[in-house]
Amino acid sequence: MTTVTYDYDLIVIGAGSGGVRAARMAATKGARVAIIESRYLGGTCVNVGCVPKKLFVYASEFSQSFKDAAGFGYTVDKKPEFEWARLRDNKTNEIKRLNGVYDGLLSRAGVDIIHGHGQFVDEHTVAVEDRQFSAKHVVIATGSWPVMPDAEGAEHIISSNEVFYLDSFPKDVIVIGGGYIAVEFAGIFNGLGAKTHLLHRGEPVLRGFDDDIREFVSSELEQAGIQLLYNREISKVEALDSGRFKATLSDGSVRETDLIVSAIGRRPLLDGLNIDKAGVKVASAGHLDVNEHYQTNVPHIFALGDVIGRVQLTPVALAEGMYVADYLFDESPRAVDYNLIPTAVFCQPNIGTVGMTEAEAAKQFERVEVYQANFKAMKNTLSGNPERTLMKLLVDCDSRAVIGAHMVGESAGEIIQGLAVAMTAGATKADFDRTIGIHPTAAEEFVTMRSPARIIGRDREDD
Ligand code: FAD
Ligand code: NDP
Repeated sequence: MTTVTYDYDLIVIGAGSGGVRAARMAATKGARVAIIESRYLGGTCVNVGCVPKKLFVYASEFSQSFKDAAGFGYTVDKKPEFEWARLRDNKTNEIKRLNGVYDGLLSRAGVDIIHGHGQFVDEHTVAVEDRQFSAKHVVIATGSWPVMPDAEGAEHIISSNEVFYLDSFPKDVIVIGGGYIAVEFAGIFNGLGAKTHLLHRGEPVLRGFDDDIREFVSSELEQAGIQLLYNREISKVEALDSGRFKATLSDGSVRETDLIVSAIGRRPLLDGLNIDKAGVKVASAGHLDVNEHYQTNVPHIFALGDVIGRVQLTPVALAEGMYVADYLFDESPRAVDYNLIPTAVFCQPNIGTVGMTEAEAAKQFERVEVYQANFKAMKNTLSGNPERTLMKLLVDCDSRAVIGAHMVGESAGEIIQGLAVAMTAGATKADFDRTIGIHPTAAEEFVTMRSPARIIGRDREDD
């Protein structure tokens, strides 16, 4: 019997959140690993996603802070001025620093970094330009790419990728979509001073989130100054001599604007990968199907992260990358729990959520207690900021387990992360009740809600 020798134990295609984690962890366990990256180390999250987005979110929140300061005794003599180029370039320098950090992390772990576009030659060989590399196992972690609207003149519409590098900041912008990116970017543009319109084909935003949260956020977005254009789509875009754009909407109305940004979802990125040469099948929805070990139909070729079309979040890609490295080169991989994934939307105020929505809970459990609090946070008393906070807890009446926690309010993402630990550990309402609050915080409300606002379920008529 002849033994096949490969250049590497593992080749990872794509150095984003999931790919870097899989490569680094595999190398740490002694495997010979190479990672191929065509654009930027760190992938979407570091370069055109979570990180630069959050830096822009921080920037956008200063405008409200300047306003809030007056009620606390400050005199802000001059209208604060915002310089887009400074924010953009400071952000870019920080991203460059992080690219270097990723380079160092991979190199120190012993991973060979190959810059260029990877494409399969056969099921064990990947080419980058005129070089070929073979591996026993391959991980496809190529991420996702923005879907663009199918409208006449769509070439004048940009995606979130380009927002990070705009030459100038718009006075007026239309953001298309009602998901995470549209809502977050509408908040960014609005906070930084652009007249912002959010154009969504449905109503309200953020389908899939708890309905009360969606309604509440919708009214907070409007209250913050964002104009909501619901139940409409973009039909046509024309470039004007002035450099502006004329947008025709599906209701026939016409608007002139400086910039149109689309955020209508992201498709799995498999462009130019020659995946057919490896015999890997693509699901009809365009993603790669994998089993519980993240194996594609070709067992030594794995796929993870956005490209598998499950949950497009960095911590999920990280957990999947960790699983594959453990599965291949260690003994006890820890399965990713897709049931309790906490998530945040960094709009103003932030949304933080973990577990079931009220609608999901009503379907799955016989009786569910719904605890709810809607209040003005203490900071907003002196500031005069009308922004409010909403909190919700869902409790299964039988087991008393807390099955959903939702919040819209300052630092909701930070607060919900802690609750996610408690819920992952199986906390019941009694555990929440015996937890001492931290006073004065908004978060203490989660341990002081004593009477349900309502009980939903089969025999709700009797309540
Ligand atoms: P990616 O990070 O996209 O990495 C894939 C890499 O593969 C890329 O670097 C790409 O260049 C490379 N590649 C592709 N094809 C090839 C090829 N053939 N050869 C070589 N290299 C290739 N998630 C959160 O959890 N929190 C957030 O706040 C958040 N904010 C976001 C904001 C925006 C604007 C966007 C777009 C996304 C955001 N996400 C956020 C989602 C998060 O960025 C993704 O879920 C995550 O990056 C997915 O990781 P991944 O490893 O699957 O892919
Ligand atoms: P989402 O899937 O979150 O939202 C897509 C939005 O576009 C929905 O409102 C959808 O409407 C709408 N839409 C879909 N197709 C069309 C169409 N043809 N015409 C008009 N509207 C359309 O995608 P995003 O692009 O916002 O973000 C991609 C993913 O990135 C997110 O799902 C999330 O996983 C991740 N992300 C995470 C962030 C975070 O953790 N804070 C931040 C940013 C991104 P409908 O509801 O009617 O389907």
